[in-house]
Amino acid sequence: MPTFRDVLNHKGKALFTIRPEATIREAVRSLVSHGVGSLLVTDEEGRIRGILTERDILRFVDGHCHRFSEARVSERMTPEVHTGAPEDDLDDVMDRMTVKRFRHLPVLEEGRPVAMISIGDVVNALRSAHEYENRQLKGYISGGYA
Ligand code: AMP
Repeated sequence: MPTFRDVLNHKGKALFTIRPEATIREAVRSLVSHGVGSLLVTDEEGRIRGILTERDILRFVDGHCHRFSEARVSERMTPEVHTGAPEDDLDDVMDRMTVKRFRHLPVLEEGRPVAMISIGDVVNALRSAHEYENRQLKGYISGGYA
């Protein structure tokens, strides 16, 4: 079964981070300029402090627009971050993300965050794996009866 490692091999490792003391405006700029939906919040030693996604920003914008420039990332991030490991099975990951209702998962290697995987990456990897399996089965069946 495919794992996070397959996704990382295909997509490469990319992780965009922000500090807890950065402003929401800075976070929006970073999300837009990198074309991503989430930022891992880390301190100066690289330790994980939280996660901030476009959904957190939407909730903030609904009613707090006037504080866009002074509100801090630390006020809106989720501090308890769920993480994955390269050897995690993608079917299990998909279940976790669906049950917990989030679309982003940082991957840790030797305790350090190395990549952010989105639910879109997981769906694409599972789709490719199922297509491959289908082709193999069809080949096996038609070969077997040829
Ligand atoms: P998302 O669907 O990823 O935009 O996130 C929905 C909510 O879950 C937001 O409040 C996020 O801060 C939070 N969230 C997203 N990913 C994670 C994660 N890996 N661990 C904990 N919370 C998360």
